Amino acid sequence: MLQVNIKNLIDDVQCYQTVRELRWPDGVACPSCESQHLIKRGFDDTEPARQRYACHNCDRRFDDLTDTIYAGHHQPLRIWILCSYLMSLNLSNAHIAQELDLNKDAAHHMTTQLRHGIVSNSPSSTLSGEVEYDEVDIVAGHKGQPDEVANKGAGADDGDSKAHGDVARLKARNRRSLA
Ligand SMILES: [Zn+2]
Repeated sequence: MLQVNIKNLIDDVQCYQTVRELRWPDGVACPSCESQHLIKRGFDDTEPARQRYACHNCDRRFDDLTDTIYAGHHQPLRIWILCSYLMSLNLSNAHIAQELDLNKDAAHHMTTQLRHGIVSNSPSSTLSGEVEYDEVDIVAGHKGQPDEVANKGAGADDGDSKAHGDVARLKARNRRSLA
């Protein structure tokens, strides 16, 4: 039987476009000063779809992946994008690892990072709206923090994880009401 590998169907240009839309929904902005007065400076030497920029305001040089979780990883961007997509289908880490030919540790590392948002220095920027997680996933994400999960049950949770849980619950409700 013919094997179709999803990794061969993904276009790098679209992947970089997706990253730009996720991290800069209002248009590309300088990661240092947020100015949108930029100069495009060609493309990365090894990744032809990766746009480089220079900030006209503060002279910062950056590219599409600067300050994102994708920078400095050896996995190609399309593997990260596919990982996000498979997470949105509620696939387990083991299943994602199998689909993308990753070892289990790599898949776990990537899904953990993706849950915390794609811009590494800005915890408020997340994939919400693009990728939805069920509440089950949120709780599973706190595997190493049993106290926090226990507190959640007692309604005494705080901060970030509660907000995400609420979003997940809201989305679960919305899905049900649409069904
Ligand atoms: Zn700047």
